[in-house]
Amino acid sequence: MRRIYFDNNATTAVAPEVVEAMRPYWTEHFGNASSIHWFGQQARAAVETAREQVARLLNARPNEMAFTSGGTESDNAAIFGVVEASRRDTKHVVTTAIEHHAVLHTCQALEKRGVRVTYVRVGSSGVVDPADIERALRPDTVLVTVMHANNELGTVHPLEEIARITRARGVVFHTDAVQSVGKIPVDVDRLGVDLLSLSAHKLHGPKGVGALYVRKGTLLKPLMYGGHHERDRRPGTENVAGIVGLGKAAEIAQARMAEEGERVAALRDRLEAGVLRSVPLSSVTGDRAHRVPTTTNISFDYVEGEAFVIALDLRGIACSTGAACSSGAVEPSHVLTAVGRTPAQARSSVRFSLSRFNTAEEVDYALEIIPVVAEQLRSVSPHYKAAGTRS
Ligand SMILES: *Cc1c(COP(=O)(O)O)cnc(C)c1O
Repeated sequence: MRRIYFDNNATTAVAPEVVEAMRPYWTEHFGNASSIHWFGQQARAAVETAREQVARLLNARPNEMAFTSGGTESDNAAIFGVVEASRRDTKHVVTTAIEHHAVLHTCQALEKRGVRVTYVRVGSSGVVDPADIERALRPDTVLVTVMHANNELGTVHPLEEIARITRARGVVFHTDAVQSVGKIPVDVDRLGVDLLSLSAHKLHGPKGVGALYVRKGTLLKPLMYGGHHERDRRPGTENVAGIVGLGKAAEIAQARMAEEGERVAALRDRLEAGVLRSVPLSSVTGDRAHRVPTTTNISFDYVEGEAFVIALDLRGIACSTGAACSSGAVEPSHVLTAVGRTPAQARSSVRFSLSRFNTAEEVDYALEIIPVVAEQLRSVSPHYKAAGTRS
């Protein structure tokens, strides 16, 4: 069967050039990057080249980049790291209600340790108001953590404005940029962030590797203890092949961003407009003007999102609800409910996330399938019939 992949916010295909770049570091160049002999030097050189490639994508200095096991670890290292490094008697953290679980659950763990956390609310735009962040600040606020692009909606938060506020107050500012890096320009100096998390597998690199940008002078206590790797920020023998893959993925993303960003945005817009036109009672969640090019989140009234995803999968189209399945019960997405969707609307939402590997032909094929499947599911929905919405 023909397979179409519209779930790129969950993970992306590893680019063929990335696989090729990684291959030698599993075979002849297998050395430990800390070893002083030739084998070690090959590995060390590759890690440092990758550090430059990732730093260049972010307009950062290479010595401000620490490699990690992925976005989740980078978020944990930044949030715990800043809080643990602070010597204040009372500590307060500001975040938003629509963060990824790698940030939200980390903040909840901090609360269990006595740290106070404010979860700033976000309106139906899916974009946080910097004034709300400012109002949440307290004299003991040690960290503000606000994601760059939201993984469920694609909406982009105004980090520059938030950074002006945190700087004026001397508060450390972290962003989870896992969904923006490689898709839109991310310049750590222009954004004004002190810490930034990214993950290779969201930008056509391998799984299990990521990076944390740490602005010079930012105090951070490490999560783990061991060797002196990554300037004492992250011990453990480097995942050399993975790091090489991240570096190559960053280089490619930078080279193609402008052109591919426009092309992918046009595909996403074509898919979105086509769905809205052909499926009655469908609507987009979040501000369509402030989004990454890849993502659309569409709510289909009277369609159960999980059932829709499964029915589309049976027709070869992969997408996602963004809802977390816990103990068999489908919980409505915390993001969708936070931006004002009712639990029913949240359960009726489907996220389509594209990448540079998608084509216009795939979008057109999907546009033939989606309205048919939506109508099939609605035709068996008692609520749909009861609402008398069928003509
Ligand atoms: C995927 C994702 C993460 C987690 O990254 P991993 O590398 O999978 O641990 C964190 N934040 C956001 C916004 C994500 O989309």
